[in-house]
Amino acid sequence: MPYTVTLIPGDGVGLELVEATCRVIEASGAKIAWEVQEAGLSVMEQEGTPLPARVLDSVRRNKVGLKGPMTTPRGTGIRSVNVALRRELDLYACLRPCKLYPGVRSRFHHVDLVVVRENTEDLYAGVEYDAGTEEAKQIIALAPGKIRADAAISIKPISAFGCERIVDFAFRYAVAHARRKVTAVAKDNIMKATDGLFFRTAREVAQRYEGQVEYEEWLVDAMCMQLVQKPELYDVLVMPNLYGDILSDLCAGLVGGLGVAPGGNFGTEAAVFEAIHGSAPKYAGMNKVNPTALILSGVLMLRHLGEIEAADRVEKAVSAVIAEGKDVTYDMKPDRNDPSAVGTREMAEAVVAEMERG
Ligand code: NAD
Repeated sequence: MPYTVTLIPGDGVGLELVEATCRVIEASGAKIAWEVQEAGLSVMEQEGTPLPARVLDSVRRNKVGLKGPMTTPRGTGIRSVNVALRRELDLYACLRPCKLYPGVRSRFHHVDLVVVRENTEDLYAGVEYDAGTEEAKQIIALAPGKIRADAAISIKPISAFGCERIVDFAFRYAVAHARRKVTAVAKDNIMKATDGLFFRTAREVAQRYEGQVEYEEWLVDAMCMQLVQKPELYDVLVMPNLYGDILSDLCAGLVGGLGVAPGGNFGTEAAVFEAIHGSAPKYAGMNKVNPTALILSGVLMLRHLGEIEAADRVEKAVSAVIAEGKDVTYDMKPDRNDPSAVGTREMAEAVVAEMERG
């Protein structure tokens, strides 16, 4: 019986990346039936929403989705479909492995980190008030002398429930993947209420795994410096939403950039896999950008489905193509203008050819 997976092609470079990734996954031997569900700006006009209920129903039914990046227009009032999808499906854990494959240009020799980002709370909750609104005035009145009268306000909710489940997810992941350490990251010296709650809860969860997985804490600013100086010291990092967003891009930079950084969003009922990067609109339709991040997101999906052999086959082939350095996209060449760089489709074909050889 094939697995049915909801496929959300996205927009911008999403379409070509999804096509390349499906080609590789189909060649891996895994039996997947795709249920294509368009979402985003392309369906907005016809269906009145960028995230129609049919898309959510499909992911709930199939329990697994693979998604191309989707554009969020700036300054239009349209909220991110990516954020809405995570919220609607309560995909509370965002997993972003950052592993340095041989052949990738990097200042480091060994990086094998996993960023676990809380996906539903924090400043991403979407509770915001423009300057001058009644709500902003009411909040300003709660803290006399602390907030200027013309301030816009974003609320940062962090709950004990949210902290417990994300930190427990990080520890469960560490145990399941034989990882030695979980590092919690926040800034409780300044945000004593919200980030204080995050660390207190993390300590409680860590006690349940004592003897199995090490636990430590870092302030987010110091963690940034540690990561760019000594990334080899870290293993699984767990943090609230905003820090996770920023640090996962930083960690992607340690291992070759956005073109190679995969991701997965996990909830109790479903999981949706997508690259960290966005829709890179300036490259849309050019068959230019790197398919590795989405292909490796597909590898995470195959592992989640229990298709371990297929996942290993794809990862090994991707690694071999990168190590050879010939059939790779422009971003993986030492000189970005190297005319020998191949396109999205050709790199995916090289991965397929490598699987067929190996
Ligand atoms: P982006 O990640 O789309 O692109 C930034 C730059 O990174 C690109 O110009 C390109 O140089 C490089 N890049 C990205 N992906 C690459 C790849 N696969 N191969 C090689 N180089 C790659 O970020 P942005 O320009 O800030 O955002 C564009 C749009 O994407 C925005 O509308 C944003 O909201 C959206 N976005 C969506 C998601 C998502 O769907 N999950 C995530 C982030 C951003």
